[in-house]
Amino acid sequence: MKLHYRLTPIDLAAHYFDIELTIAKPDPAGQVLWLPVWIPGSYLVREFARNIVAISAEAGGKVLPVTKLDKHRWQLAPTRKAATVRYRVYAFDLSVRGAYLDQQRGFFNGTSVFLAVAGQEDQPVGVELVAPAGKAYRDWEVATTLPRAEAKAWGFGGYRAANYDELIDHPVELGAFTRTSFKACGVPHDVVLAGRQRADLKRLKRDLKQICEYQIRLFGEPAPFERYLFLTAVVGDGYGGLEHRASTALIASRDDLPLEHETGLKPGYRQYLGLCSHEYFHGWNVKRLKPAAYAPYDLTQENYTRLLWAFEGITSYYDDLTLVRAGLISPQEYLDLLAQTMSQVQRGAGRLKQNLEEASLDAWVKYYRQDENSPNAIVSYYTKGALAALCLDLTIRQRSEGAKSLDDVMRTLWQRYGHDFYPRGAGVPEAEWERVASEVAGFDLAAFFDHALRSTDDLPLAELLSAFGVESQLRPIANGGDKGGWKEITAPGNALGARVAAEAGGVKLTQVLDGGAAQAAGFAAGDVLIALDGLRLSSGNLDAALAGWPVGSTVPVHAFRRDELFSRNLTIQPAVADTWGLRLTATPSPQAKNLQQHWLAR
Ligand code: ZN
Repeated sequence: MKLHYRLTPIDLAAHYFDIELTIAKPDPAGQVLWLPVWIPGSYLVREFARNIVAISAEAGGKVLPVTKLDKHRWQLAPTRKAATVRYRVYAFDLSVRGAYLDQQRGFFNGTSVFLAVAGQEDQPVGVELVAPAGKAYRDWEVATTLPRAEAKAWGFGGYRAANYDELIDHPVELGAFTRTSFKACGVPHDVVLAGRQRADLKRLKRDLKQICEYQIRLFGEPAPFERYLFLTAVVGDGYGGLEHRASTALIASRDDLPLEHETGLKPGYRQYLGLCSHEYFHGWNVKRLKPAAYAPYDLTQENYTRLLWAFEGITSYYDDLTLVRAGLISPQEYLDLLAQTMSQVQRGAGRLKQNLEEASLDAWVKYYRQDENSPNAIVSYYTKGALAALCLDLTIRQRSEGAKSLDDVMRTLWQRYGHDFYPRGAGVPEAEWERVASEVAGFDLAAFFDHALRSTDDLPLAELLSAFGVESQLRPIANGGDKGGWKEITAPGNALGARVAAEAGGVKLTQVLDGGAAQAAGFAAGDVLIALDGLRLSSGNLDAALAGWPVGSTVPVHAFRRDELFSRNLTIQPAVADTWGLRLTATPSPQAKNLQQHWLAR
């Protein structure tokens, strides 16, 4: 092996990994080493190199000087001998995107710990994972889909990768974790839970198997991986996931996992299964079927594509759709989730300013860098992208009278661009996605895509859904916790036009929405409202305090901006209709019933 990495958890209390990289044939002019500035799947420049706290090198038993070239590159002094580079990485990022190490567990993505050897990125590499020293760690195991070399299953020792791209696409969990396994369409799947938990593993396996088998069959057997690993870090309160070619790294809240005495699908567990479903679907859509802009990734800077709506939005559409098609939730439960997504999009004025292509292209500086004005300025390519996918699916089904669907589009794209991706795939050119969709649908979808992707006009959701036997309502929000779903509202309340958080002695405005009463009165994000008409406000009594006033009346409101007290007159506004409810039509036409069954049935 010309390149070899040896990784040792060296000081768990201080969160350090030591890495020794051996380069058999360094560039004689001075070998350049670099670390990615971002991790695929999370479109933000994160500068992982900032966590390298020490680096040195030697060749032929002598010190080899190392020069830092810029934020993420180093250069070794010229040598004709094999070089060994030693460096230390600080690992205390409890997310799925970085690296973490303490006395309980270790976790890393290769993008945080493995320096790339410039010019040798296509070379196969060897990796030795060294167990931490000490009795306290003798139960530690290794969970990763990195191919094993000498290492035994779940063991420390030798692993390998065909090239750098593969090396950084298999996250690694270290620790005394819980593990279980199942087969889906004959493919071994492992489930690893790290952290304190007492989940019902049998239930988890049974439900995940349904999801996996549905998706494997959707794209067609065989599955594109030889094995798959669901890695979950269980914490008190957390949520997140990142997709990889044969695994996913997830963070979940302990209470969201199913317990043995529990029956039914509690909302937290439904959300966890939705997350697993989402990341698993990425095993096809984005890990193999991917935009040409990511083939290959340029890990030294932002990679721009207008197609994130297709790779994240369509994945978001299929994540919950898989749950209903696999029989894990009912059609009405699915419609409730859909109504929540529709409400999320409807509630942000940003949907009228940014279209889906712009949202994709600007992910690096807008979606991944949200601030107090984001609801007014941007639209999510996840949520609106999922609704565009829904509209595309329903449009194709309706116009082809049930003969074709988005499933067919995805299968065709998969066969042409995803199927054989590793090692020689090229990715989908920007304009090709839409062309293939029209070809598969059998009619021209150009007008659909112009509307859905390149305009900010609202999507024709209600009209399309009604043809599938689904009634919709657009109604005012019922209370602060109302995320959407069918509800008869007899007496709509008044609305502040802001998102709020509880704050000692008042109500903090976290986001002030365009066109709302708070913005019109001159309040800003960060202001703490303390009294309305001279009476104390709290997050618990805000709705009631507003409800007592006729629309159009003016009420004095006292507030703090930073440490300065001020007051403004608030003109009372009614809550606008920004919340969707969906339900199955009681007596759908035979045509609608037929379309609906093909759309939602298993
Ligand atoms: Zn995703």
